[in-house]
Amino acid sequence: MNKKGELEKLKIEMLANKDLPLKTNLVFGEGNIDAEILFIGEAPGAEEDKQVRPFVGRSGQLLRKMIRENGLNEEDVYITNIVKRRPPENRDPTPKEIESYKPYLKRQIEIINPKVIVTLGRFPMNYFLPEAKITRDQGKLFEEKNSGYYLVPMFHPAAAIRGVAPMPIFEAGFRNLPNIIKRVDKLKKKK
Ligand code: URA
Repeated sequence: MNKKGELEKLKIEMLANKDLPLKTNLVFGEGNIDAEILFIGEAPGAEEDKQVRPFVGRSGQLLRKMIRENGLNEEDVYITNIVKRRPPENRDPTPKEIESYKPYLKRQIEIINPKVIVTLGRFPMNYFLPEAKITRDQGKLFEEKNSGYYLVPMFHPAAAIRGVAPMPIFEAGFRNLPNIIKRVDKLKKKK
């Protein structure tokens, strides 16, 4: 089966799994299934639930602007979330919710097989790198031991909007993405 078919099958499986927590719309993800860069956020918000698309609210507009301003097209990347339904009142996803959605994210990543995964905010970062600290480690390139994935944790755009994360550092992370891709290419060649 091709990638498109495999992703479609995965989505159908998720829709059929009535044990998955949260009952809002399934926001599966969107973008280029052959993307070099996969962005992973926390969970959809109200606007994402309404439009059934990831990152289309205020933080999504900032994310998509950063993508466009740094030599990429929204159509060149793939965007998804660790938890694929909206938690009530936009609260943080619970450990149980993350655990339940994890196997699907794992398969989604395997199918897309991106060159670099950019995690947005604490939750998706700690999914891959349990010891990492966002302020200390954002912008750094990591190789996840078990899977071999190359990862860059970044601040969540909502944190940059709220001023919890410094906007210039958030923006610098995006400007550095082309360098990160070059570094990953070199590291892969050495293998
Ligand atoms: N925040 C996220 O983490 N994901 C979205 O899709 C929207 C906002």
